[in-house]
Amino acid sequence: SRRPIIAGNWKMFKTLSEAAALVEGVKPLDAVTGGVDVVVCPPFTALDRVVGVLRGTGIAVGAQDVYWEDSGAFTGEISPVMLKDIGCRYVIIGHSERRQFFGETDEKVNRKIKAVLKHGLVPIMCVGETLAEREAGRTEEVIHTQASAGLAGLAPDQAGGLVIAYEPVWAIGTGKTASDQDAQQVIAYIRSLVRDWYGAPAADQVRIQYGGSVKPNNTAGLMAQPDIDGALVGGASLEAASFTGIVQAA
Ligand code: 13P
Repeated sequence: SRRPIIAGNWKMFKTLSEAAALVEGVKPLDAVTGGVDVVVCPPFTALDRVVGVLRGTGIAVGAQDVYWEDSGAFTGEISPVMLKDIGCRYVIIGHSERRQFFGETDEKVNRKIKAVLKHGLVPIMCVGETLAEREAGRTEEVIHTQASAGLAGLAPDQAGGLVIAYEPVWAIGTGKTASDQDAQQVIAYIRSLVRDWYGAPAADQVRIQYGGSVKPNNTAGLMAQPDIDGALVGGASLEAASFTGIVQAA
């Protein structure tokens, strides 16, 4: 009974005119948003324009990162207040690329999640193990650490309202999707952690996506798994046809 949610993470792609053209191509998906939540996450520079193009549709817009203060002398940063003001509804937090290249820690992820919730935005918190961690049999340990620190100190209803994205680092941009069973297994584990920490209602409500080389032709198999509620899509969200195909298969 959880509503599926497909989000496109455009990463550092698309100039303003390219973003406008892409989202015009995505707009017809409004017809299927009765059954599936659809979110696009452009770079900051295109957010306002994309919100404008999608106004009046059921397709939502998200940012790819945020800072936790409302305002202040924090050169280069963007606050939840600013995102809310322009019409963003979601914020991706703790993507593995931010953890790898920009010093994102579990503690920063936790502060960002709390700040975003305070302003009524929905965090999409990313967790996932590297190939070396998986091969060392450390997947659950890594997920446990990221999730327990990232989700610390929330109210149960806040935990239930989150979106969590399980993105194994070895599957991102590699064409190597996790098998349906491997993705299901880790996502069920994440749901069990939410149950331990925040109770059954939160665990039943929280939506958990899979991310990593999701394409139109592997979406249905992933979505058929009992605990997989959607996808966080990178490369295949950069073209309207493939993103549309994924939403239609969800
Ligand atoms: P790809 O779909 O390109 O593998 O990227 C996944 C991702 O990182 C989405 O956040």
